[in-house]
Amino acid sequence: MIKENIEKILKEVPKGVTIVAATKTRSIEEIRQAIECGITHIGENYVQEAEKKFNQIGRAVKWHLIGHLQKNKVKKAVKIFDIIETVDSFELAQEISKHSQIPYPVLIEVNSAGEMQKSGVFPDKTERLIEEISKLPNIIIQGLMTMGPAVENPQDIRPYFKITKQLFESCKKIKKPNVEMKILSMGMSDTWRIAIEEGATCIRIGTAIFGPRR
Ligand SMILES: *Cc1c(COP(=O)(O)O)cnc(C)c1O
Repeated sequence: MIKENIEKILKEVPKGVTIVAATKTRSIEEIRQAIECGITHIGENYVQEAEKKFNQIGRAVKWHLIGHLQKNKVKKAVKIFDIIETVDSFELAQEISKHSQIPYPVLIEVNSAGEMQKSGVFPDKTERLIEEISKLPNIIIQGLMTMGPAVENPQDIRPYFKITKQLFESCKKIKKPNVEMKILSMGMSDTWRIAIEEGATCIRIGTAIFGPRR
C-alpha cells in the first residue's frame, strides 16, 4: 500500500515541492519502505521517538521536526534534525542558537487562525519575531510553517493558507543575511492539494502515505 500511495503522490506533486513523510507512530520498516519508494524527507513530532529512528536510519534522509519543541530537548534535537519547523518564540530560537555549531535552519510556526490554546506565533506578531530572532548568531530562518485549524471540510482551511502565504511574501521584505524565506510548509493528507494551490513549497503527509494511524 505504501508503495502505491507514494507513487500516486509523487506523480501529482509538482517539481520543487518537498514531500515530508510524517512518520509519528510508524515503524522503522514502514519508514524504510517509504525511503525505498523515493521519500527523502522525514517529519517527526517527538525528539525521543525521532532519536530511536535516527539511530537506525541516519542521514540517508533529511529530518524535520514538525512537533512542538520544549526548551529542555533542544540540545538533543539539533543533533538529530536538519531543520526545526516549529519555532514560535525568541526563547526557543535562542536555545537553538546556543546549542548549534552552525547557522541552524528553522521555520517560524504561524498560528494562522489565531487560536488561543495552540502553538505558533500569531500572524500579526510574526514579522516582529523574525526581526528579533534574526539577531541571534546561529540561526537561519528559511521560511514559515502552519498547521491551520481543524476543519471538517478541507476547503475551509484555504483562508488560513492564504494568510500564511501573504505573510510569507511580506516577510521576504525583511532584509537580513540570516532570513531567507524560501520554504512555506503547509498542507497534510487531506489538504496538500489546496496548500500547493496556495503556494506551499513543502507538504507534510502521514496517513495518505501510511494509512490510518494505529
Ligand atoms: C501528523 C502530522 C502531519 C501529517 O498528518 P496526516 O493527516 O497524517 O497527513 C502533518 N503535520 C504535522 C505537524 C503533524 O503532526
